Amino acid sequence: PPPPPPFMLRRPPRSTHTQSRRQRQMCIRDSVYAMKAHGHQKRASGDPYFSHPLEVAAILTELKLDDATVVAALLHDVVEDTEATHQEIEELFGSEISQLVDGLTKIKRLDLVTKEAAQAENLRKLLLAVSRDIRVLLVKLADRLHNMRTIEYVKPEKRSRIAEGTLDIYAPLAGRMGMQTVREELENISFKVLNPDAFETINSRLERLREESGNILADIEIELTKQLSAQGIESEVTGREKRPYSIWRKMERKHLSLGQLSDIFGFRVIVPSIDDCYHALGISHQVWHAVPGRFKDYISTPKQNDYRSLHTTVIGPHRMRVELQIRTWSMHEIAERGIAAHGLYKDAPNAQTAEA
Ligand code: MN
Repeated sequence: PPPPPPFMLRRPPRSTHTQSRRQRQMCIRDSVYAMKAHGHQKRASGDPYFSHPLEVAAILTELKLDDATVVAALLHDVVEDTEATHQEIEELFGSEISQLVDGLTKIKRLDLVTKEAAQAENLRKLLLAVSRDIRVLLVKLADRLHNMRTIEYVKPEKRSRIAEGTLDIYAPLAGRMGMQTVREELENISFKVLNPDAFETINSRLERLREESGNILADIEIELTKQLSAQGIESEVTGREKRPYSIWRKMERKHLSLGQLSDIFGFRVIVPSIDDCYHALGISHQVWHAVPGRFKDYISTPKQNDYRSLHTTVIGPHRMRVELQIRTWSMHEIAERGIAAHGLYKDAPNAQTAEA
């Protein structure tokens, strides 16, 4: 049978994070190797080149990925950009890491060759090239994220092309892998590069709104928490503004002006159990008016990337339209970190071998 798509979840998560002294020493050794290999190369920002792989590794550390992934991040540009060879990496770091680095080198070449190719085709190739090990894709996403965070140092004529590729390929990819935080950041930086005027307009409107409404986010958080706890539900409620790119997309989709856009606040309501999710939903609909057509049950029907939550919009405290996302802690973990939250990515190469 053909191998399953890399996003399918087949195994329970495994905890991997007890770092031994040996692992720490390994990591130091790997960093020193990568630092020496990049020598005196410089980034467009003028920083030593080595700051880049280090930042990429830091992003993956934050996502709590395994050691091999982090080491591959430190080495991800070494074969393409320095004298180091594939063979050398294999001898020094073993086959697991050298295969990851190999996958990354391949994508890098693919990037260069297919920049003009149809985007869907590009994405498909990208996926095929790395489907052997999802970790390659995770490093590539972190690589792109750091490059986007530092895009202001890139020549203006190159910026748009990079931002387009990010918006067309990498942001949707992050979305399909369930990594919403990464997706949003990629989208927002790209939007700022590609459409600076729209970005600025929305951003300054958000700032004004923030000043006018004062502590409205905190007020609504407190009110929601209070209503739920009055019914015996212990919850953690956090509100946030939508990001400029998602506001802009909604304006485009619904042909709205900025002034007509009402629900720019979203709240996450995290509760202990699935029962509590439905109970909290019932309470919020009893206490406030639900906006028709806005209820979605992604618990009984999860999204393809395994995202689960209840969504609804109510006319909440202060008569503000607020969007609620109701979920448990484990749903929240998956909503934020996606495939990185599963520990599943680690099993990908073995699963492949077993089926071959
Ligand atoms: Mn890189």
